[in-house]
Amino acid sequence: MSENKKQIIDVTGTVQNYTSCMGCSIKNGELKPYGNILFEDENFYVCQDFEVPIVGFIIISTKSHLCSINDFSSDQKVNFIMLVDKVLKALKTIGVAQEFILVQGERNDIHFHTSLFPRKEWMKEKFGRVISNLKQIQDYAIENMKTPKNLSEIAKICKLLKEELNK
Ligand SMILES: [Zn+2]
Repeated sequence: MSENKKQIIDVTGTVQNYTSCMGCSIKNGELKPYGNILFEDENFYVCQDFEVPIVGFIIISTKSHLCSINDFSSDQKVNFIMLVDKVLKALKTIGVAQEFILVQGERNDIHFHTSLFPRKEWMKEKFGRVISNLKQIQDYAIENMKTPKNLSEIAKICKLLKEELNK
């Protein structure tokens, strides 16, 4: 493996190789998120979380390699909040969840992305307070939820979300 060759395990358990940063690699097609890109506009793309097989766990990422909202132009800032609103509405409309937790790292070395994490009943039952247990819930999903049944549910939701977002 060459120095700049990186690997990541996707929601199906398949190892994918990439050379750029994750966000750029998804944008340029080197990495293929499950369900592919669900929506894109001038500045952003939307896809299922790459690694965590939770139904309706959706990522909004910049097309260009920006790291912070502070790096956005005024147009991009408006575009971003309108898109968050659009994706949340679509996720509610297709019945993924009615409540979400938005997680966004603001780091100098990570391609900008916001995660829309659905608050689901099974998470509350198994882990209690969802926001306090995001890491444990994701680890649990990676460990236990790469099942054909769950993957087919993710695929179904990706298809519905794609249709809803592109209406
Ligand atoms: Zn990047």
